[in-house]
Amino acid sequence: MTVPFLSLHDVTAMHGEEIREAARRVIDSGWYLQGKENEAFEQHYAAYIGSPYCIGCANGLDALIWIFRAYIELGVMQPGDEVIVPANTYIATILGITENGLKPVPIEPRRETLEIDDSLIEAAITERTKAICIVHLYGRNAMTDKIAELCKKYNLKLIEDNAQAHGCYWKPTSDSSLKGRGNDCFASVWGTHTADSTQYDLLKQNAIANRKTPPEAEEIMWSLLKGNNLGLHFRRQHIILDYIVDFICLDKGLVIELDGGYHNDSQQKEYDEQRTAHLQHLGYTELRFTNEELLCSPDAVIAKIKVVASNLPSFKGGAGGRLIHTGSIGDAAGHSFYPGKNLGALGDAGAVTTNDPELAAAVRALANYGSQRKYVFKYAGRNSRLDEIQAAILDVKLKYLDEDIKRRQEVAAYYYAHISNPLIELPEQLPDENNVYHLFPILVKNSFPSRVKSSARSDFQWTSVEHHEVGSLRDALHDYLAEKEIGTVIHYPIAPHKQECYAKHPSFQGGDGGRLSLPVTEFLADAELSLPISPCMTQEQIEYVVTCVNRFK
Ligand SMILES: *Cc1c(COP(=O)(O)O)cnc(C)c1O
Repeated sequence: MTVPFLSLHDVTAMHGEEIREAARRVIDSGWYLQGKENEAFEQHYAAYIGSPYCIGCANGLDALIWIFRAYIELGVMQPGDEVIVPANTYIATILGITENGLKPVPIEPRRETLEIDDSLIEAAITERTKAICIVHLYGRNAMTDKIAELCKKYNLKLIEDNAQAHGCYWKPTSDSSLKGRGNDCFASVWGTHTADSTQYDLLKQNAIANRKTPPEAEEIMWSLLKGNNLGLHFRRQHIILDYIVDFICLDKGLVIELDGGYHNDSQQKEYDEQRTAHLQHLGYTELRFTNEELLCSPDAVIAKIKVVASNLPSFKGGAGGRLIHTGSIGDAAGHSFYPGKNLGALGDAGAVTTNDPELAAAVRALANYGSQRKYVFKYAGRNSRLDEIQAAILDVKLKYLDEDIKRRQEVAAYYYAHISNPLIELPEQLPDENNVYHLFPILVKNSFPSRVKSSARSDFQWTSVEHHEVGSLRDALHDYLAEKEIGTVIHYPIAPHKQECYAKHPSFQGGDGGRLSLPVTEFLADAELSLPISPCMTQEQIEYVVTCVNRFK
């Protein structure tokens, strides 16, 4: 059996006809840049992530470059300022910082999770620190309450590299670190969700639809809900971000919608589904009733509302209990749609999401030669746009992202349940985490034969390493699996601070004139190996991988 590390052919084939149809539509339209497809994808992706603004751009590296550059143009940062960043990441995260003359300050990961070790951040903060850039590496959320607290305490921007984690959630474990945050930053988490002026058309469309609802049903519902009738305080026609909800109990985050007949038309249906998903991502619970349901059996409707509400925790005063998509946690996020990513284009593509309108405008201009008006150049920008074909393809694939993630999680669950080779360490699973498994990293207990032989310790766990005369055990596993026709990849064999391009960079110099030493990061570079994981693996393939991995000695 053959198990490729990732078959992009198979990934595309899952929705091949729809993708070809989307590409064909653009080809036939005669409009290839900055058109309807970009607009639609940006809107849908923003709604999915839970950010008010999304700007498509050429690739994920550019997305990060534009975020930092925009902060410099806006006077928030200056070249020479410091940005805290995980030492264990793909080099693009670091390049986005150094490209702008900012100074990356690498922080070691926790070996158990492979994500930035938040207990080491505070000691690295100086007067020049302007931001923390977290990376949700391998598809796992890197955000923590502690990081939120530090951003607040030192007034730091929080930037997310979400290249590997589209669809991942963060679930804050406590409300206390979230309190007191202004609306200006982290608005999606800490602030109120207020109306978004850029989405006015949608609001208007919905308002028109609202008026078509028989006011009778709405009036009846309101008469049942108002005045604390159910022991709950409801409001009607309440605006959340870019939506108007019919009724809401803010204490519970409970939204109640009445569907008139117009909800059956397919465009409206799609809009409703997206809206429901978006509200869910923001932590709201939505209940929908048809007008007929309410008119025929109001008692059943009210009973249902009561039961659901009584089972909901308090929603007030913070984000406790809410699930927040990575990419909407911080002030801005860079996303990559490189073909191999969970949401991948058929070429290069990327995006920035943010809740900051000024930053959004600057990023949009910078990625378009620095222009906000045709032939007028505010910044010396570059051409870094998302093209219409890729936007159309991404819009198709976005619809299936959650399904794909579920499949990845099933593969991962099987690996966790069945990989039992003592030479292999699996990253720790955390309660409540929503890992989207862009990659499935394992750690191969790495030691070199010479060291093992000379140690001659009977309690040494990894004596089977003696079989391998040269190289590390990790590389031996890679070769062994390759022989079995299983593709694996190392993420990443050389840590950024050890790369030639940063040989002279001040961020990566050690105290003694040599390179900076980051032992955990270096250990991961020697021990990490990624097993195949994708939404289109068959059960036989998954089992075959486990069998081979467990047989390795
Ligand atoms: C892929 C990736 C990027 C860069 O994205 P590109 O679209 O390839 O430029 C940035 N950061 C991380 C963590 C990545 O995995």
